[in-house]
Amino acid sequence: MIKKLTCISCPIGCELSVTLGENGKILKIEGNRCPRGVDYATNEFTDPKRILTISVRVEEGEMELVSTRTDKPIPKKKLNEIIEYIKKLRVNAPVKRGDIIVENILETGSNLVATRTVNKKD
Ligand code: SF4
Repeated sequence: MIKKLTCISCPIGCELSVTLGENGKILKIEGNRCPRGVDYATNEFTDPKRILTISVRVEEGEMELVSTRTDKPIPKKKLNEIIEYIKKLRVNAPVKRGDIIVENILETGSNLVATRTVNKKD
């Protein structure tokens, strides 16, 4: 079986063809212009990960939400659990861009980091 996917490791976006055996084992990867494409395709078929961008509620802030993102990709299989955790999360203003909102979120080894500043409301 041949699966197609686009490498998102850089803006070139190579179209990769991944040949899988009957047991789902990767037999061949083609279409990559550099070795990172092989790593990307391998991870996609074994342990896919994504950077999560999400807003977090802020108490006493000039805005109700602060944008955040994980500083490392997190396993796709844990995304829903992490999103549910973050929905219940509240942080107190002020929040500065670069602040770690949650360290090692749900034991993923990734920190949730604020990507903007929210000052305390007057
Ligand atoms: S295979 Fe290499 S060149 Fe192609 S999109 Fe991935 S990182 Fe970029």
